[in-house]
Amino acid sequence: MGETRVYDMIVVGGGPGGYTAALYAARAGLDTLVLEKLSAGGQMALTEEIDNYPGYEDGIDGFTLAEKMQRQAERFGAQTAYAQVERMELTAAPKALKTSEGTFYARTVILATGANPRELGLAGEEALVGRGVAYCAACDGMRYKGKTVAVVGGGNSAAGDALLLSRIAERVVLVHRRDQLRATKIYHEPLIQAENVEFRWNSTVTELLHEEKLTGIRLRDVQTGAESVLPCDGLFISVGRKPATELVKGQLELDAGGYVTADETTRTNLPGVYAVGDVRTKPLRQVVTAVADGAMAVHMAEEYLAGGA
Ligand code: NAP
Repeated sequence: MGETRVYDMIVVGGGPGGYTAALYAARAGLDTLVLEKLSAGGQMALTEEIDNYPGYEDGIDGFTLAEKMQRQAERFGAQTAYAQVERMELTAAPKALKTSEGTFYARTVILATGANPRELGLAGEEALVGRGVAYCAACDGMRYKGKTVAVVGGGNSAAGDALLLSRIAERVVLVHRRDQLRATKIYHEPLIQAENVEFRWNSTVTELLHEEKLTGIRLRDVQTGAESVLPCDGLFISVGRKPATELVKGQLELDAGGYVTADETTRTNLPGVYAVGDVRTKPLRQVVTAVADGAMAVHMAEEYLAGGA
């Protein structure tokens, strides 16, 4: 694949922000291609149930919502190519995207590459994935029916994961390095009420104990320095995300967290390049904010293509 054709817009990443941009672009008559490495949805596709996306009063699973968004954009003529982007030349004219399937060209680029789970960086962490170490409770939680699991983190993801796991596992231990959760209040009461959820405050995980599979974790009290062992079958690591910005480092301005610096207009420091969804600097990373970005980016791109900003 790869073509000499120059698209009006290439969207990199087929999550909710990406496919909303594709929908708006296709409906605006722009020749639009989405580059997606695996399948639509991004992190959303890994979410078991989404209850806070308006219009689905009974909730919807992320995979189905992703398929719907893709089909909706494609109904208006947006195309999808399954390809891994390897290099981006964003200051070239036209902009060039070298991929596993050849090079694609476009007048505007929308970066919708999202953010991936952050790792703890412990010895054996990578090797134990699927054998006790996991990053997605909605995906892997069912494997721990009746077992003991630990969840590390104190944000909304960790709190949500602990609640979900409390309905599956026998015992859930939430390990957080502070003495209180960062998660929004809505999670606090149900977690405290859940009889099988315990908290290990002021604690970090210092070692993964294992044979073939994970058998436990070593914890360190950050105040006293005391160490303890918690035997467990699973460890769900839920300590935030890292933005997928490797490919644009040195070209696009990034903030301290590595997210692409762009305000509500989604415009980056480069003309004709926009950042939408989780990859952009923003206070709230949700499906609903990602889709809003997608619409906004196309509005800005249309102005740019018409010779404006
Ligand atoms: P987050 O809000 O950034 O929280 C990350 C948590 O992990 C923090 O509590 C942090 O501790 C801890 N942490 C970070 N690095 C660590 C390390 N190396 N070792 C131990 N702990 C570490 O991330 P998130 O929970 O994944 O959420 C990401 C975004 O998605 C947020 O904007 C969140 O609101 C949103 N989200 C929303 C919902 C919802 O509304 N239902 C659900 C999930 C996610 P400190 O507190 O000490 O910094």
